[in-house]
Amino acid sequence: MATPPSDEQGLQAPLQGEDLAPFKVAPTGKCWWCGDVADTREHKFKRTDLARMWPQGSHLVWGDGTQTANVRSARKSTFVKFSANLCGACNNTRSQPFDVAYDKFSSYVWEHQDSLWWRRYLDMTKVYGAQWEDGATNLARYFVKHLGCRMAHENYPVPAVLKPFLDGDPKADSVHMALYKDPALRARRQQGKRDGIDATGLFIEPAVGAASRSRNRLTRYFSGLTIGTVGVVYVWDEDVVDTDPFYVHRRARLHRRDHLPSA
Ligand SMILES: [Zn+2]
Repeated sequence: MATPPSDEQGLQAPLQGEDLAPFKVAPTGKCWWCGDVADTREHKFKRTDLARMWPQGSHLVWGDGTQTANVRSARKSTFVKFSANLCGACNNTRSQPFDVAYDKFSSYVWEHQDSLWWRRYLDMTKVYGAQWEDGATNLARYFVKHLGCRMAHENYPVPAVLKPFLDGDPKADSVHMALYKDPALRARRQQGKRDGIDATGLFIEPAVGAASRSRNRLTRYFSGLTIGTVGVVYVWDEDVVDTDPFYVHRRARLHRRDHLPSA
């Protein structure tokens, strides 16, 4: 059992799973980005990512850190989509540049995950060329969209601070993001190679939140997603406005996952 949050002492105990239930709200049926009717479901995992794994005859497993399942259809599986919490315009047209940026990043990372293991930085010009700033920022917007869809999917209020960034602001207040390479997933991949199987996959980490009793709401939400052995942690923290996220750097630091916080 987690300790109740006690921000009266300036402390916030991380809460996870059922402990976060009191801070959930009823679904509004509205797009969390623009307020229109929410009638489309964003993919937790992109179809392009899933499709890339199938032809290799790889081991396609859905996992969120607490459970795993086999995914048999990228289009139909409920494991790969969020609840309907965006309108069609926001989920498609408005966020298309984010999806494009993510696809480029994801292809690059998937293809270079073995060489990236030996790197301390990921050079964004290798992914996006001279337009790396637009590319990296739109990639971060994809992750922010993922964060918002995930919070809405889990019935948390989506922080208003996410929207100006999606609307074009160059940086998201209160959202920190860092890229990483994961030694545990690297070890699994290497073991898979020795065993003659492709043990590489896509992973979403379990969310960890923190809440303020006096404000009576969630004030922090932490999670991450991994493509093969390379991924991103993202954290929205109401109490930390200024951040130093990966996308402001041409050479984005590639941390070891075990050197980054888990909550
Ligand atoms: Zn919308």
